[in-house]
Amino acid sequence: MAVERTCILVKPDGVCKGLTGTVLERFEKAGLRLSGLKMARLSRAGAERLYAQHKGKPFYDPLIHFMVSAPIVAAVWEGPGSIQKARALMGSTNSPEAPAGTLRRQHGIDNRHNLIHGSDSAASAEREIAFFFKPDELFAYASADWQSAELKGNEHGKSKKTSHSVPSR
Ligand code: UDP
Ligand code: MG
Repeated sequence: MAVERTCILVKPDGVCKGLTGTVLERFEKAGLRLSGLKMARLSRAGAERLYAQHKGKPFYDPLIHFMVSAPIVAAVWEGPGSIQKARALMGSTNSPEAPAGTLRRQHGIDNRHNLIHGSDSAASAEREIAFFFKPDELFAYASADWQSAELKGNEHGKSKKTSHSVPSR
């Protein structure tokens, strides 16, 4: 399975209900790696751009209204098949019909207030990630990096440096 990045949003209902940690924890426990994280308040123009593919549909205006009603939390998760994995953790659009155990089934209300957004394809992921994150706001690292960094320069340290793209601040 190819290593992919996917863009997840905790929607305004999730942030307001204090479910941001619950959502992030589910993705961490599924073995996906956090590459980027930020809180934002979408402008109307921003929400319209983000959901441009739905323009003209009956739910478009109420959806935009909902998405600008409070802040959102945007996260980028990386891992093999992360786009489909995320969609499976989320569940289908209409919360009461989503499979048992999914985030939408557990915490969503209906087919609009459904807690979470997840990219539906590699092309959508690329577009959505670029919408929220600058390149230097995304990070690549390996599980052992915190240990190898401590061992670096240490006479016992034999581990090789793994992939990094952490910008200097
Ligand atoms: N939506 C809605 N009514 C609908 C379908 C969708 O309000 O009948 C909202 C809902 O918040 C959904 C978003 O529009 O998450 C985007 O719709 P999409 O079909 O892309 O669903 P998703 O990919 O989020 O499951
Ligand atoms: Mg969608």
